[in-house]
Formats: sequence, C-alpha cells, structure tokens
Amino acid sequence: MNNLITLLILSLLPIFSSCQNNSDYLKNKDYKITRSNQEWREILTPLEYHVLRNAGTEKPYTGLYDKHYEKGVYSCKGCDEELYKSENKYNSNCGWPSFDNAIENKIEYGIDYKIGYPRIELKCKNCGSHLGHMFDDGPKDTTGKRHCINSIALNFKPI
Ligand SMILES: [Zn+2]
Repeated sequence: MNNLITLLILSLLPIFSSCQNNSDYLKNKDYKITRSNQEWREILTPLEYHVLRNAGTEKPYTGLYDKHYEKGVYSCKGCDEELYKSENKYNSNCGWPSFDNAIENKIEYGIDYKIGYPRIELKCKNCGSHLGHMFDDGPKDTTGKRHCINSIALNFKPI
C-alpha cells in the first residue's frame, strides 16, 4: 500500500512542477540544446526571441505558414529538430498553423496560467523553445486536438 502511495506521488510530481512560471521552467530543464539568453538573442530575430524564449504569440493571420499546405516537414526554429508533418496540418481558421498531432516524442507538454486559466503549452523537447498551445477543438475524426503553433517558431522543409 505504501508503495502505491509513493508511486502515486511520484506520478503527480511532473504535474506540479510544470506549474512553475515560464522562465524558471526553462532554466531548470536539461535540454539537449542549451544556450544562454545572449546566445539565443544572437541567433534569433527580436520577434523570434519573443515567441520562442519568452512564450510570446505572433499576431493571428500574419504567419508565413498559416495558409501553407505544401508537403514537407516543419522543424523547430530554435534547433531545427523535426516536429510536425504536413499530413497533420489542417485549416482551423484560427489564424495560426494548426496540426492534429506532432511527430512522436518531440513535444514537451506543460501548463501555463499566463492569461488567468490553465492552457496546455507546447515546447520543443530538444531545446525548450515555446511553440504554441494545444486545444481540444481539433478534428473529431482524428485526434480531436489542435496544436496551435506560431509560424515564426517553425522552419519548413519541402519533400
Ligand atoms: Zn527546438
């Protein structure tokens, strides 16, 4: 019984630890790709830095990949890790690129309370860069999830 309780506590720890604010969250993680804030500023434009490293959001309907439906793979602007396939992209009309799923094991899921209520935050598991959020209004015939991703957080490679 004690073991069960220990297991339960251990399994809940990641949920509690993900409630920290963003900057602490990024600092405490051991990502494969780590850079100082100064190094990030050198390789990213100010808007890229704002979105990727400060969990900012680009204006809706302005991103390069909002209405982009070529065949290929979308990778992380911060580290070039492949994150999303074009076959999972769909038109949600929300103003940002939307995917019903990511490439397996590439995304880190957290919780952010930035706007007063909990939202599921999506980050690159390789470098910790903020990508966007996940919502439950995705296509019902597939996952039912909408990965709402900032265009500026992505690179695209056609296939
Ligand atoms: Zn990355």
